[in-house]
Amino acid sequence: MSALDRSDSFGEKLVAFDPMPAGGSGPNEPWCTSCRAPITEGQRSVRVDFNHDPHGHQGVTGVYHVECSKPFASLARALNMLAVRPF
Ligand SMILES: [Zn+2]
Repeated sequence: MSALDRSDSFGEKLVAFDPMPAGGSGPNEPWCTSCRAPITEGQRSVRVDFNHDPHGHQGVTGVYHVECSKPFASLARALNMLAVRPF
C-alpha cells in the first residue's frame, strides 16, 4: 500500500528535471568563454577559433559575447596568422 504513497520519489524526479526550462534556447545554452556568463537569447554572440586550441581545451576557443570577443578575435587573428607560415 505504501508504494502508492511514495510521493517523495516523484518529487525527486521533478527537482532533477526542473533546472532546464522547457522551450528556451535549447539544452546547450552557450557560455561566454571570457566572462563565464551565459549568453542569453537576446545577446549577440560570436565564435572565436584559435588554431592552437581547436577543441577549446585551453579555454580560449569558444563562444563569446560580441563585446567580450573583440580582444580575443584580434588575438586569434594574429596568432593564427603566425601559425600558418607560408613556407
Ligand atoms: Zn562575455
